[in-house]
Amino acid sequence: MDEFGLIERYFKPLSTGFSGSLNLSDDAAIISPPPGHELVITKDAISQGVHYLGHESPALIARKLLRTNLSDLAAMGATPLCYFLAVMLPKNTTPEWLESFAQGLQQDQKEFGIHLAGGDTIATLGTPSFSLTALGTVPAGKSLRRGGAQIGDIIYVSDTLGDSALGLMMLQKNIPSPALEQRYYLPEPRLALGQQLLGIAHAAMDISDGLLQDLGHICAQSQVGATLYRDRLPLSEATQALVHQDAALWNAVLSGGDDYELLFTAAPNAPIETLARSLNLRLTAIGEITVENAVRVLDENKNIISVPRKGFAHF
Ligand SMILES: [Mg+2]
Repeated sequence: MDEFGLIERYFKPLSTGFSGSLNLSDDAAIISPPPGHELVITKDAISQGVHYLGHESPALIARKLLRTNLSDLAAMGATPLCYFLAVMLPKNTTPEWLESFAQGLQQDQKEFGIHLAGGDTIATLGTPSFSLTALGTVPAGKSLRRGGAQIGDIIYVSDTLGDSALGLMMLQKNIPSPALEQRYYLPEPRLALGQQLLGIAHAAMDISDGLLQDLGHICAQSQVGATLYRDRLPLSEATQALVHQDAALWNAVLSGGDDYELLFTAAPNAPIETLARSLNLRLTAIGEITVENAVRVLDENKNIISVPRKGFAHF
């Protein structure tokens, strides 16, 4: 199948419903944000063997790619608008592969309200890789940023930590653990939370490179420090069982990465419990913003824990 046939068959159906895509039939898309809004734009690229294992279904690869980008939109408090996709595939890629990949995108487009607006498909001599650029909208000047944390703020995190990193570890060790694997394969972008935090959170980001490293980014941007209490970190049952067996696995919770939960700070009187109830989402206070220029983790006896590895290193 030539490139035009491929676009017509697999990608054009993903663009219907978003007029700015011009049905993928022009040279570029045309986008105007709603009045009073600005565009929030993010890009994530993934390649086989580095960001995914290679045995996943193409649908799952597509969904994780889209969701990691949506997680960045969530971190800014944005509402998804459209995305651009670059696909680099070996020449022997089958129609079944493409069908599954497009079906995965279609499924998550429906779930999260976003459409394809353009892209490119090229052949590669190496392994598959993909790049996605997602656009969202946010009321002008209101987006969530990393730099607004204030001394005395409470630090919160959504849902549970460490599941994805431990899921990957279990996959690599060939130990079945469906609940943890699921969290590795399919992150849950916290879009509704991000949007609801506009005007409430002082600082926010999504955790992709590990809690400690990412909290370090908020502290650096805000020129503050932080104290975390390890015994307050929210754990799933599966993760709790694992760290109970082997305390070294706390490292996966503190620094594991790929959580795609939102990390945010808010004033002590902010209505976070109400928000958690209305979203039916666990939001846990895990520490506070301090004046010191460091991120400290305390154990249940308030002793400082030293953490060996700080987070995912990209290179
Ligand atoms: Mg991010």
